Amino acid sequence: MTERPLLAAANVETARRAQAEFGLCDACLGRRFGKVDTGLTNEQRGALLREAAGAPQVSPPSCFVCQGLAAETDLLAQAAIDALSPYEHRHFLVGTRVDPAIEARDAEVNAALGTAATAERIQAELNRETGKKVAARTGKAVDFKAPDLAAVVDTRFLDAELQHGGLCVFGRYRKLDRTIPQTRWPCRRCQGKGCVECHETGKQYATSVEELVAAPFLAASGATEESFHGAGREDIDARTLGTGRPFILELKDPRVRTLDLSVFPALVKEGSGGRVEVAELRLAPKAEIAAIKEHRGGKTYRALVRFEAAVPAAALRGAADALRGQAVQQRTPQRVEHRRADLVRERRVLDVQVEEHEGERATLLIRGDAGLYIKELVSGDEGRTEPSLSGLLGVGAKVAELDIVEVEYEPPAETAPAS
Ligand SMILES: [Zn+2]
Ligand SMILES: [Zn+2]
Repeated sequence: MTERPLLAAANVETARRAQAEFGLCDACLGRRFGKVDTGLTNEQRGALLREAAGAPQVSPPSCFVCQGLAAETDLLAQAAIDALSPYEHRHFLVGTRVDPAIEARDAEVNAALGTAATAERIQAELNRETGKKVAARTGKAVDFKAPDLAAVVDTRFLDAELQHGGLCVFGRYRKLDRTIPQTRWPCRRCQGKGCVECHETGKQYATSVEELVAAPFLAASGATEESFHGAGREDIDARTLGTGRPFILELKDPRVRTLDLSVFPALVKEGSGGRVEVAELRLAPKAEIAAIKEHRGGKTYRALVRFEAAVPAAALRGAADALRGQAVQQRTPQRVEHRRADLVRERRVLDVQVEEHEGERATLLIRGDAGLYIKELVSGDEGRTEPSLSGLLGVGAKVAELDIVEVEYEPPAETAPAS
């Protein structure tokens, strides 16, 4: 036993001084050496040192530092369990709030004994020991990174504050309607408070993809709030077809976490009157929200183009060939100028195919970098996009209808789907 680094002569002498000058319970004594000798609790460390120093045992309520708190982890665990148990969860995390006066006395002892470098903080000890007891009593595991539920126990009042981990659902949505925006859009006039102009709804548009997708999820999970994160967004008048656009629906404060995702495609389709569909639903780690938002994958569009005059087939083919693989300089379009910084961006046109063409109208399939403005690529936006289809043909051209048919997205490896 004397081989233990914990029982080095200097440590035993420090323990003797600690008991003579302050009088600490075993846990608070052992905590001075929390970083020495792994595999022991602080209470065990303290008992070993106290015995080696031949110093008297101090009962927790008489401890200079904690005045009994270090021995109260059973009570802390019970407070955490009371808070956690009404809610469905697979794993949890326990945190504690400690009276600042206790932390101050703890620091005072370390300063006097020179043990600041080897000591553990009392809060760290309480978090760990309480977590162990909750796990042992409930059979649930501690998760430090993304727990379903976290309980923060205030050690003075033995009450716990609960934090529900959000629930993230990944999917792809199809928008089959040219009148709804992707996300809830507050009324421009009242900023969401409700006014005459928006018929007291607070909204610029009656509904959105976000609201139509979220409704059944909010109902089933009992979540209080949601956030909708799309991999880019389409213009209100553009449909999103094909396999749809990736999104993550973040449900906040969900009371129910085990959702049968297979029922939601039908619920969304029905609830939206067929305007919105979802597919490929799965639970996602929260970290994937960033991947979705920073998504820079290519996109493919189908554009119905109307020309101001009939265009010969060979000329249209020639213009499509010229744009294929071309880097395009796009100054911020006039139609979004009021909400975006005015600057020139370079985006690549990856492919252009003529699907149909008849005189003054054509259907084009255009694949481009994320952020390529398709309407402006076609019209030229009065010289702000260069080159453009209109510029190459020498004829005015306009997108009459636009559909997104593919949004390329690869979930990042480090955020592989949560099981
Ligand atoms: Zn103590
Ligand atoms: Zn309003």
